[in-house]
Amino acid sequence: MLKVELKEPMSNSIQIAALAGDGIGPEVMREAIKVLRVAEKKFSLSLQITEAPVGWAGIDAAGAALPDATLALCKKSDAILFGSVGLPDRDPTIPKEQRPERAALLRLRKEFGLFANLRPVRLSKHLAHACPLQPERQGEGIDILVVRELTGGMYFGQPKLTEEIGDGRRRAIDTMVYTTPEIERIAHVGFRAARSRRKKLTSIDKANVLENGILWREVVTRVGKEYPDVELEHMFVDNGAMQLMLRPTQFDVMLCENMFGDILSDEAAALAGSLGMLPSASLGATSGELTFGVYEPAGGTAPDIAGKNLANPLAQILSAAMMLEFSFGQAKAANAIHEAVQRVIADGLRTGDIYTPLDTKAKKVGTREMGDAVAAAVAS
Ligand code: NAD
Repeated sequence: MLKVELKEPMSNSIQIAALAGDGIGPEVMREAIKVLRVAEKKFSLSLQITEAPVGWAGIDAAGAALPDATLALCKKSDAILFGSVGLPDRDPTIPKEQRPERAALLRLRKEFGLFANLRPVRLSKHLAHACPLQPERQGEGIDILVVRELTGGMYFGQPKLTEEIGDGRRRAIDTMVYTTPEIERIAHVGFRAARSRRKKLTSIDKANVLENGILWREVVTRVGKEYPDVELEHMFVDNGAMQLMLRPTQFDVMLCENMFGDILSDEAAALAGSLGMLPSASLGATSGELTFGVYEPAGGTAPDIAGKNLANPLAQILSAAMMLEFSFGQAKAANAIHEAVQRVIADGLRTGDIYTPLDTKAKKVGTREMGDAVAAAVAS
């Protein structure tokens, strides 16, 4: 079980904003809420789950990707369970700054200071065949936590613009910028997470080329001195990308700046068989403690399979489990959900993304059936 900082269990009424979003969002959110309701009953919780539109659903309902009423709901909630937003067919029809990923997702991250993104990548032994790597490269099992800085770097740095430079030519500028406090706080999250796991932290940078990389390496090394029990290694991002494919079992915690973490965590996701298996937590700090968070699947809106009962709801369900653990200190309920997911996988239930006919035990099911099975396993 992954642990960073646990809150005292919150037992009185817990307010959750459930923002399903677009594409497969509503389908997988429905299953996650179904599982949460079962966990609520079993563990005597009191969950006030309020649904609100975001993304294109927000634009269609209230004219904005993050409607004021949705933001107000988030502000009075204890955590946000998020689906995903954005539709590639519709996004280009409105100005960039109004598009769902910028206007809703990036805005929420900034609004709540969600600087720490945790993405656990675990390959269940029952899904070994869904991993693109040969069994000998999977070793005893892949279990990596990607800790990604989420509010700095190139995605937010200014200036950020495209300008005319004459003769019909244009120039696009993105700025990569990090301050020492930004690196320090995410480094502490990484080291603390490593301490509760296998005590190894691989810090990813591009110190051979980027000023940001040099500063990143210096600061992480300095912070690492406070965690002598954690082994620290530094790796260039290009080598990190290669090592993930060659020998993923060498990694415990991978600490990355924003863009490198975005890319490497999706690459790592492939090792778990599908984006549909990967939850994530984006956390902010209140009084030094990581608590308030947005919990969401690592994948997007998957328009290719939306509305067809084909999406894998497990990433959304596992995101709900992370929420119970990190934001509400309900480790028992979170564990019950994790174990239920393992049980249905062990029983052979597979949505299309993790199904292969080579696995003779596998039974192909839809989104709803997978959610029902997890809910039943939590209840039992
Ligand atoms: P995607 O993650 O939506 O899909 C990539 C592939 O993974 C597709 O083949 C899809 O079918 C599959 N996939 C993803 N989640 C799945 C699941 N739960 N079950 C089964 N298969 C799943 O990425 P994309 O196609 O690059 O983006 C589609 C849209 O989603 C874009 O508009 C993009 O901007 C948006 N997006 C949003 C978020 C977010 O809201 N956090 C994240 C990534 C992408």
